[in-house]
Amino acid sequence: MSNVNTIDVEAVVKQVLESMMNGGAASSAGQSSGKISGGQIPKTARVAMLTALEKYEVKEFPIPEVGDGDILVKVEGCGVCGTDAHEFKRDPFGLIPVALGHEGTGEIVKMGKNVKADSAGKPLKVGDKVVTCMIFKDNPDITMFDLNKQNVGGADVYGLLPDDDIHLNGWFSDYILIREGSTVFNVSDLDLKSRILIEPCAVLIHAVERAKTTGILRFNSRVVVQGCGPIGLICIAVLRTMGIENIVAVDGEQKRLDFAKELGAEKSVNFKDHKGIEALANAVNDAFGGYPADFAFQCTGSPVAHSNIYKFIRNGGGLCELGFFINGGDATINPHFDICSKEITTVGSWVYTLRDYATTFDFLKRAKGIGLPIDKLITHEFPLEQINEAHVTNLKMEGLKIAIIN
Ligand SMILES: [Zn+2]
Repeated sequence: MSNVNTIDVEAVVKQVLESMMNGGAASSAGQSSGKISGGQIPKTARVAMLTALEKYEVKEFPIPEVGDGDILVKVEGCGVCGTDAHEFKRDPFGLIPVALGHEGTGEIVKMGKNVKADSAGKPLKVGDKVVTCMIFKDNPDITMFDLNKQNVGGADVYGLLPDDDIHLNGWFSDYILIREGSTVFNVSDLDLKSRILIEPCAVLIHAVERAKTTGILRFNSRVVVQGCGPIGLICIAVLRTMGIENIVAVDGEQKRLDFAKELGAEKSVNFKDHKGIEALANAVNDAFGGYPADFAFQCTGSPVAHSNIYKFIRNGGGLCELGFFINGGDATINPHFDICSKEITTVGSWVYTLRDYATTFDFLKRAKGIGLPIDKLITHEFPLEQINEAHVTNLKMEGLKIAIIN
């Protein structure tokens, strides 16, 4: 998936990295607990603010005082999410002007004296690499050790916060100020690309946990994954790291289907090769050697795809619907044929829990451990000043995961 932007950006990133390495070492004096890469903390930080529909402006804001419970993070990179794309196009959350970017990661450059450990109890120091998760302002009892099913609904997330006097609230920026009471994880043992992929991967860790509650998903299950965007592809990788091997990927783009195989799908079905749902269902059946799927993951936002997926599933099988992150409209099903007479068990999945986040760190290590090329999900990299181009590229659906790399 080479394009001109990617090539240019790689060169720029390399240059910046080189200049950071050459100029960054000398300036850590005055910091008691570690290095500051990239030089001294500047007076101001650049923040990409979405100020109108389809328009980011890179603005300069003063870096505020770091309070006793706060953490100042120098941003290394941040993925562009489907949610950012929706905000860019339509602002469904009514947040403009807003500092977006919630799939970010970076290095601690300064922290208040009260900060000792992350949300899982792991020690924190200047120089550590971190990510943030959601903030349960109204429910401080929810911790990472809480295994109940409370997900991100009803919580705040950096990168989707209303603008305030601090402004350093999103990861599409040079610096972000993580306020006291936030959820933060030390992920220094993961490389940059893995760290950028944590948030979308957590969505799939959660979805598979939801799927497991049906009791239908087993090691030898025949699993169909419909939709091979980042979500469907990561779904396949999660299933594969769990030891599930009989996976069939369904999508309309051969490029994505080929990548689905690299990430662990056994077979793939291109829906464009089959006319009508009956022919498509037969093709999925054939891919499983003449059997329908035991379990299906619906990973597209298309109502027709939701209507179709029941036809792939055996009697007594299961379905996890996770494609409709936002309202994508109504889907038609026949309750008799699709659910009732087949006794299909359906679960919905949305976002993730705090606990899923920690599970995700281990998933990323396992995925690499068994040789899944998870990094290749990041197909395009842009510097912060090209954030509008990054979003336009995302909307064109040219790549998979697009990342801003500082
Ligand atoms: Zn996201």
